Amino acid sequence: MSLDYRQGVPDDWFIDPVDLGVPGVRRDDEDGNPLSWQADSLCAQTDPEAFFPEKGGSTRDAKRICTSCEVRAQCLEYALGNDERFGIWGGLSERERRKLKKRAG
Ligand code: SF4
Repeated sequence: MSLDYRQGVPDDWFIDPVDLGVPGVRRDDEDGNPLSWQADSLCAQTDPEAFFPEKGGSTRDAKRICTSCEVRAQCLEYALGNDERFGIWGGLSERERRKLKKRAG
């Protein structure tokens, strides 16, 4: 048996889960729609009003739902990238997102 290390890692050794189409793992720009991740969002299946409470209203229910949402990271990233001003995105309120942005600098 001869081992030829010069060949290196085979091209097909690394399997990209995105290319396999694992549910919940998607490219942000799938179908050219930057909001395609919302197809997996939990808020779309619940009460969207909870995510856009009136001023001073409770955000607790919405945030709790976000904690089990599969696309939380994409959601937060989208909100930060697009300067979403209102509502809960990725489990954070507008104020919390502003703070996060400041910290990220
Ligand atoms: S993280 Fe929260 S706001 Fe974002 S998609 Fe999921 S449930 Fe909706």
